[in-house]
Formats: sequence, structure tokens, C-alpha cells
Amino acid sequence: MEGELKCPVCGGEFDGVTFRSRSGSSIYAKRCNQCSGFWFEREPASDLELSSVLEQDSASANYSMKNTDLVCPQDQSLLEEVDSSELPAGSRYWRCNDCDGSFYPKGQLATLSEWRAKNSAHVSGGPLKPNVAISSVLVVALVGLVGASAGKISGFSAATDQVLPTLGPSLGTLILLAVTYVAGTILAILGRKVAVVAMGWGVISICLVGFFVVIFGP
Ligand SMILES: [Zn+2]
Ligand SMILES: [Zn+2]
Repeated sequence: MEGELKCPVCGGEFDGVTFRSRSGSSIYAKRCNQCSGFWFEREPASDLELSSVLEQDSASANYSMKNTDLVCPQDQSLLEEVDSSELPAGSRYWRCNDCDGSFYPKGQLATLSEWRAKNSAHVSGGPLKPNVAISSVLVVALVGLVGASAGKISGFSAATDQVLPTLGPSLGTLILLAVTYVAGTILAILGRKVAVVAMGWGVISICLVGFFVVIFGP
């Protein structure tokens, strides 16, 4: 069966090629022995390790390729060009909506892999680690504050029983909650990762619950 697949661009025969994924597993693909385009049976390229792509393909922009209809070598449905507005300039590839196969003309697999590697390094590198560290510190601080306020409530109410039976400890707790609330808001607004923003909102909601408990009693 595999020998019957023909390149959708030039009709050439495919040879088998093997790539490595970033998790170290093998990803099998086909390369046209005439035009050096790549055919993947499933959308794989986001998992490909860049160095293994560069062993098989070298990046080159593709502005010259004609806008022809390409047909899936597997099931003969029309391949759909992936929206170029989401891709770097000069890069194009096609995919089949029926079988999830995808075709990368020569130079495009490397171009897109380099772009993806750069993009994912940008997204998951740099700001993540400091943010996670800051978040952890804030969560620990939050737990500490909640513990401290709980201790203050019982301690204070015993000591200031005669003066301000409920107002004193409630005020202290409210201030602590407000400080934590501001910290949560800073996280939610300045956090670059979804997880950090979610943590900020978590802190905010915990504080809101705290406000209600303090104001309306447990
Ligand atoms: Zn070809
Ligand atoms: Zn298909």
C-alpha cells in the first residue's frame, strides 16, 4: 500500500524517513524522491525535534509555489492549505481534513520547525520560572496569613474581650485579607502564564470568601 502513495505536488514516489520527537520517540514520515516534499500521516510537526528535522530538510521560504489544488495521497480528498496568517512569512503547508495527513513542500518543514522551536522557547522559557517562584512564595505567604489571622482571632478576642469584642480582630483580619487580595490582583493582572493568572484569581476568590466570613461570621 505504501508504495502506491504519490506526492501530491509532483506525483513522485515517497521514501520513508524517520524523525525524532522532542520526547525522544520516533516519528515516521515520507519524503518525495523528486521534489523532497514531506508527507506525514498525522499532524506531527509540533512534536518534532528541530535537530532531527534539520538533518533531512533545510529552511527556505516558499513564495513561488503556485496556488494549485493538492489532493491527499491517501484518500484523494482535497488538501486544505493551513491558514498562512498564523504562520511566519513565506511558509505554507497543507493538511487533509479526512485523515489528518499533512504535506510540507521542500524547505517548509525546516522553516516551520525552526519557527515553532523559537515560539515554544519564547512561550515556555524565561518568565515562567520567576513567575512560578513568585506564585509559590505568595501562596505560602497566603497560607501563613490565614493561619496568623486565625490565631489572632482567638488570641485577640480573649485579650480584648471587654473592649472591642468583635471589631478589633475583624479589623486586623480584614487588613491582612486586603493585603493578600492586592497580591492576588497583581498576580492576576501581571501574570503572563495562564496558570499564574488562575492562581491570582484563586487568591482573590479565597480572600473574598475570607471577607464574607469575617464580616458575616463563620
Ligand atoms: Zn514531489
Ligand atoms: Zn487524507
